[in-house]
Amino acid sequence: MKTGICPKCREVKELTTHHLFPRRFYGTKQNKKVLLICRSCHNKLETFIPQKEKMPDRFYTSIVELFLAVKPEPKFW
Ligand SMILES: [Zn+2]
Ligand SMILES: [Zn+2]
Repeated sequence: MKTGICPKCREVKELTTHHLFPRRFYGTKQNKKVLLICRSCHNKLETFIPQKEKMPDRFYTSIVELFLAVKPEPKFW
């Protein structure tokens, strides 16, 4: 485990490794593309990724771009 700033919530947390291209579909070949992200943001990100269906390559990179582009929810109003 590595501690750092999560690119999504911008908080200092323990970071987990998200493989942009799921290993269950791509094997290990393209799996150099990873994103370090905290556990709770990682869980949210995973909910946007279809688990059973293989999507086009671009889907996996753009889902991460879109996910990170969304501003973190404000904690106080
Ligand atoms: Zn986070
Ligand atoms: Zn992941």
